[in-house]
Parts: sequence; structure tokens; C-alpha cells
Amino acid sequence: MRDLLGGKGANLAEMCNLGLPVPPGFTITTEVCTAYYENGKTYPAELKDAVKDALAKVGAITGRTFGDATKPLLVSVRSGARASMPGMMDTVLNLGLNDQTVEALAKDADDERFAYDSYRRFITMYSNVVLGVEHHAFEEALEHYKEEKGFDLDTELGAADWKTLIGTYKQIVKREHGSDFPQNAEDQLWGAIGAVFDSWMIPRAKKYRELNNIPESWGTAVNVQAMVFGNMGDTSATGVAFTRNPSTGESALYGEFLINAQGEDVVAGIRTPQDITEKARLEAGSDKPSMEKAMPESFAELTRIYGILEKHYRDMQDMEFTIENGKLWMLQTRNGKRTAKAALRIAVELAGEGLISKEEAIRRIEPGSLDQLLHPTIDPKAERRVIATGLPASPGAAVGEIVFNSEDAEAARKAERKCILVRVETSPEDIHGMHAAEGILTTRGGMTSHAAVVARGMGKPCVSGVGAIRIDYKAQTLSVGGVTLKAGDKLTIDGSTGQVIQGEVKMVEPELSGEFAALMEWADAARTMKVRTNADTPSDARAARNFGAEGIGLCRTEHMFFEGDRIVAVREMILSDDAEGRRAALAKIEPYQTDDFVELFTIMSGLPVTIRLLDPPLHEFLPHTDKDVTEFAQTVGVPEERVRARLKELDETNPMLGFRGCRLAIAYPEIAEMQARAILTAAAKAAKQTGKPVTPEIMVPLVFTKAEFDIVKARIDAEAKKLGDTVEYQVGTMIELPRAALRSAEIAESAEFFSYGTNDLTQTALGISRDDAGTFLGSYTKAGIIPADPFVTIDRDGVGELVKISAERGRKTRAGIKLGICGEHGGDPASIAFCQEVGLDYVSCSPFRVPIARLAAAQSAL
Ligand code: PEP
Ligand code: MG
Repeated sequence: MRDLLGGKGANLAEMCNLGLPVPPGFTITTEVCTAYYENGKTYPAELKDAVKDALAKVGAITGRTFGDATKPLLVSVRSGARASMPGMMDTVLNLGLNDQTVEALAKDADDERFAYDSYRRFITMYSNVVLGVEHHAFEEALEHYKEEKGFDLDTELGAADWKTLIGTYKQIVKREHGSDFPQNAEDQLWGAIGAVFDSWMIPRAKKYRELNNIPESWGTAVNVQAMVFGNMGDTSATGVAFTRNPSTGESALYGEFLINAQGEDVVAGIRTPQDITEKARLEAGSDKPSMEKAMPESFAELTRIYGILEKHYRDMQDMEFTIENGKLWMLQTRNGKRTAKAALRIAVELAGEGLISKEEAIRRIEPGSLDQLLHPTIDPKAERRVIATGLPASPGAAVGEIVFNSEDAEAARKAERKCILVRVETSPEDIHGMHAAEGILTTRGGMTSHAAVVARGMGKPCVSGVGAIRIDYKAQTLSVGGVTLKAGDKLTIDGSTGQVIQGEVKMVEPELSGEFAALMEWADAARTMKVRTNADTPSDARAARNFGAEGIGLCRTEHMFFEGDRIVAVREMILSDDAEGRRAALAKIEPYQTDDFVELFTIMSGLPVTIRLLDPPLHEFLPHTDKDVTEFAQTVGVPEERVRARLKELDETNPMLGFRGCRLAIAYPEIAEMQARAILTAAAKAAKQTGKPVTPEIMVPLVFTKAEFDIVKARIDAEAKKLGDTVEYQVGTMIELPRAALRSAEIAESAEFFSYGTNDLTQTALGISRDDAGTFLGSYTKAGIIPADPFVTIDRDGVGELVKISAERGRKTRAGIKLGICGEHGGDPASIAFCQEVGLDYVSCSPFRVPIARLAAAQSAL
């Protein structure tokens, strides 16, 4: 019932049904939140009585009464949306305390210090969340008091100290808020409920929803629950635990707890917590006892519960618990957020344990998240000047210049400078800065602190709790062990080891784990579409093969024209006045092209390779700046004016719709002829060298009619004949213009395969320049005119329909015609699902997206 009760409420109810120890409580549904906003922030008429009845029921179970001066029921009020929004929404604990009930609590617990500690926490939290009084006002008063009395830790303060501070706190509330701290429990409760509903619309919650595609209409639920106290002395504690390690995925209870503390102490990262298991404590080298040692009975109970929860939910759980006087209570469970690496390991191991099927494991991994695993880490051989070590909060390494606040991080991002966000701790207000930064470093807080949780979710490297580093925000410096770095200095962080390194360190390509290989194997068995790569260089081709590419779907030969000093010959060719001159220049390029193709065919070792004839407008190859023109004219020994004149001739108002694609092959046949010869000669050579047959697929770009294709194909065939027709090859075309899509039936009479060039097809179908879309597309997606950037995710209704029509018509003429996609959409999971629906034979994408495409293809086939 998560839609109605929110994630937290639904899981609390579920844990009750499982017979687990959950403090009694009730949930105000998400429908109330929606109604609240629909009716100008007023509650449904029946809510007041319903809450009253529910409170009475909770009171009956606990033997207490809400607002009662002798046996008071205290509650927590917590938000809980349908989708988890960690740290986004507000919580109030210890609600119901006032000048009278605090005394009753003290008497009841036989612990005055505990009661007044809870009361001051309540005043702080309530005033902050509900009354909008800044947290630091209370923090300052506390720090000031501690200094005066010579205290180091909060735990050193006794009941009398807290009583004095509560007096100060009340004055702060009166000063900052303008009225007294509310003493009536019912007023407190409705204030808190209203604050939870209101927190649904605060900027950081809105931002989180926007980033995570959570609709505003979902609303949040409010959970009201009897308090259990983790701050009742040394037999009490509070903690957060994961059933598996959220960073690595290792199957072992993992988490942190604090003795004599309340929940927010752990999450806020204010005190550095202790490990739950002895193993983790030893690994971390901590001298603070683990829960396993300090509270063995509660540890055993937690272990029992985590087994039940994981079996029930069939997934890794993130649990919050409190121990009150030795009794363990569960306050929350949810599917835990995890790194991509952990997600992979957990899915594969859960399948291995028989808790989920292989198909389920495939479905559980978000293809895009694999990106995190494919990114560079620090070269183990590189020298590193480690200046400090913190917690490895989110894996991967990052380099950038130091910034000390989120605004500077955003500014750096805008200026295309990479940065590392360095903070004492982060809060939800820092989300935008964390997004903008390459990585995050905090000096405070544990593995479940805000920075750690959010960074893992974003897939950003993060090192947290680097206590040795001192930050001076005013001076914009950080210092540690005699080293002082200032804003703008380069810093490297390694989120996998926790190391903080001065300067910029060399990175290496990632090694893929056994789980990665296992999941990819399952995905390969499940999918029906092949996955090829777009690669023009041997190194791209090799990388793609390592990632499992099953051939090349697009080799853009123009990229090869820029290699080495070939560009000089290419420019000579362009400057030539006649075919003869062009041929002479092309003859210089031909051996290079042939060698390039031999290498590509050899790397692909018998797998299909599609090579596209030269596509872009010729002026792209000519020098443009004055200096380049002068240099070039001198190199080839022609007058500068000639070069400039030719530049002018070739200049186009709209090059994307100009002299490019097959239009070049038609006007200057010698270019296509040279390329055809190079491809066929290379195929013969590579076949001989590798002992595997090579059947090149030669692709003609940008045709809109069969006649264009036929002319170019005839030239290719003629070259093949001249070479003795020794190599088998296919000639096909890109379908990247709307007219070509519509006329696919005829084009398929001659073309042996189609490859959908959805970059140009999107550009021409929508009439949106792919190079200029940036200035206005953002407003389009924001206004909801289009659901996503059509150059990233295929526009199903328009471009998609053209692809569908073309596939149908092409197949009608040539049954079983090979169909693929080589536009950027070939690496986009949502577009890959579309390709599956149309029944394409393969998708082709950039090398680093190959694993993503393999997984997405599997998911769309399941
Ligand atoms: C396309 O248009 O989709 C395509 C793959 O070709 P290019 O991006 O080189 O124009
Ligand atoms: Mg194109």
C-alpha cells in the first residue's frame, strides 16, 4: 500500500504484519496531502477526529495518554513519500514534551538527565522544522555553554545543564519566532503535521523530485508513532544498518550505531558513529566497541530480523532501529540505495541464493548505472601524495579544483571547470553543488551521512569523515598535516579507498568484476538484438570489443581523414580544380585508409563491420583561422588567395543540409571509388591474415531517393569488378532523411541493409538543428512540450513512426533485410526498447555504452 501510506508507512505496517517489534503508530495517507494542497492548505473535515481516535489507540497500547501530565505519550512525526527521498523531508521527535510532561518523563524513566536531553532536542528540532528558527542559533548557545563549563562532549552535560540551556533555548525561540514555544501537545502535533505536508513543497524537495522524476502529485504521508528512546543511557542506542554493504554489495550486516543517542545524531553525521559488526570495526581500525561486542543480545536480534526482512522483500534492506533499555525496535526498513557496483553484486548474489531469478536480476539493474563501473580509477602505479584518509563513501576517483560551497561548484561547472566540493558536512541544500562537482569530500560524518548517501545515489565519488582536515571557509583553505590548499588548487579523491590526494593524479580504465561478467552473460542469453559499436579508430574498436561489441555498426571514415598528416593530402584534394588533381591527392590517402581498415577488420576478427563513405561537408576539412590558412598555403605551396577563394566557394549557409553525404560521392565520384577500393583491398588482406572471412558492409549516407543510391552503388561495384570481384561485400544505406524513410520500399530494391541514422533523422524530421538545439530545447522539456531531449531519447511518435514505416516498407521489398540503428539513440535504454519493438537486428553505440546497450536490449527482450 505504498501509494497510499508512503514507503515508510507501508513498510512499518508490513513489519508489524511480520510480527517484528515496531512501536505502535498510525499513518496519515498521501491522499490527505493531495487534498491539503487541492483545498488551499486545509485538512479534510474528518481528519481531526480520526487522528484523535488513532492517538487514543496508540495510547491504549502503550498505557499512556497524549498530553497527559503524569503518563504522557510522546510521539515521532515523520514524513514518508511513495518514493524514498532521503533527508529531503522533515522529522520531529519527542513530540508531546512540555514543561510538565518532561517532569513526568523524568520520573517515569527515573532519569532526569535523559528527560531534559530529550526536551532540548525536541525544542531544537521543532523550532527548526515547524517554526523556522535556524539550527545554528541553538548550536551556538550549546557551544558557548560547553566552553564556559569546560565540557567537550554533549554527554558530559547533566540534567541541570540541560535545564539551564532549555531556558536559553526558549528565549531564542521567543526572540527569533516572536512567540513562546508551544506548550500544548495538540498544538505541537498539528504544527508538526502541517510542517511535514509543507515540506513537500520546499525547494530542496522540489529539486530532488525534479532530479528523480517523482511527480508532485504523489504527496507525502505522515507517520505518527510512539517514541522509543535511544538516549536513555548506556543500554540504549540508535542506528542504521544495511543487510548488505551498500558500497561493495558484500553480503554481511553493515552499519553504524551510537550509544545513548537519538536517530538524527547518526543521519546528520554530527557524532562519528561506531561499527555494528566486529569485522567492520577491525577493518576500520576503530577503537570504539562494535555493537556486536557492546550489545550482543540486541545484535543477535538485529541479525534475526535482517534475515527475515531480506527474505521477505527479496532485496537488500536499509533499516533504522533504536534500542531502548536493551530492547530493539524497528523504526524503518526500505530497499537500500546502493552503488552500481553493489547493485550488480547484490542482484547476482541474490539470484545465486535463489531469492530472485536471473531475469529478475537483469531487470533490477538500471542500464545507465553501469556507467559508474566503466569510469576511471586512480592508476595504482601513479605517485600519489596522500594528505589524509577518510571513509570510502562512494567509489570511483575524481580530480578537480577545490571549491568550498555549492554556489562555487555550480559556477565552476558552468565555466566547464571540474571541481571537488569540500565541506565540513553537506545538507540537502547542497544537492545542486554535489551535482555540479566531480566528487565530494566531507570532514565529518559516517557512511550513512547525507553526503555519503546522496553521492552514492548520484554515482559520484565521495570521501567522507576526513576528520584530520581543517576547513577555514572564511579564508577558503583546507589544511592538514602542515599542508594548506586553497580554493582553486587541484585535488584528487578516491572514493574507493578514502584517500585524499594533493594535485592531479593519473587515472586508469576500470577492471570489470566477476559479477559484471555474470550479469552480462545472462543479459546476452536473454537478448535478441545484437549490439555493435560506433568506432572509427583501432583503440575505440578494441575498447568496444572488450565491452562485448559484436561488430561495428558505424565507422565514420571522415574521422580517419584527420589522423596524422593525412589532412594535408585531404586539403590538397579539396583544393584541386579537376578530377585528376583530386585523384592524385586521394592516391596519397588510399594506403592509409587501407591500413586503417585492415586494422579494424582484424580487431573485429570476422564480426560484421559497416563502413560509411565520407559524409561531412568538405569545408570542415579546410583551415579556418588566418594563421592556419597561411601555414597550410606554405605547406602545400599554393597562394593563400587560392585557399581563401576555395573556402568561400565551399562556404554554406546551412552545411547540415548542404554538400555532404552521398552528394559528395555523386559530385566527386573519385572519393567514393578510392574508399571502396581501400575497403575491399583491406577486407581481402584481413581475411588472409586472420583466416576469417570478412564481408564488409559499405554504407552510403544521406540518400533521399533510390536513384542516388544506385549511382553510388554502381561505382562501388565497378571498383570491385576492377579488383577481380574477390571479396564478398554488401552495399546498404543510412536512413536518415524523412523522404528516405517513406521511400524505403524502393530503396530496398537496391540497398542490402538499412541503418537508421536517427541523429539526422531527428534533426530533419523535427526541423531542429542538432548543433543549435541547446539554446531552446531546455525550455521545451521544462514546459513539457516534449518528454525528453529527442537527440537523447527517440521521439517515438514522429521519428519512431518514420523508422517503423521504413522498416515495414523495406521488409516488404526485401524480406529479412538487415536493419540497425547507429544514431546516438542506439545507446539509450528507452530508445533501445523502441528498437526491440520495431524488431531491429542490432543497435550500435559508442564503446562505453556497449554494456549499457547489452543490458537494455536484454531488459527489452524479457
Ligand atoms: C546519424 O545521423 O544518426 C548518424 C549516425 O550519422 P552522423 O551522426 O555521423 O551524422
Ligand atoms: Mg547522419
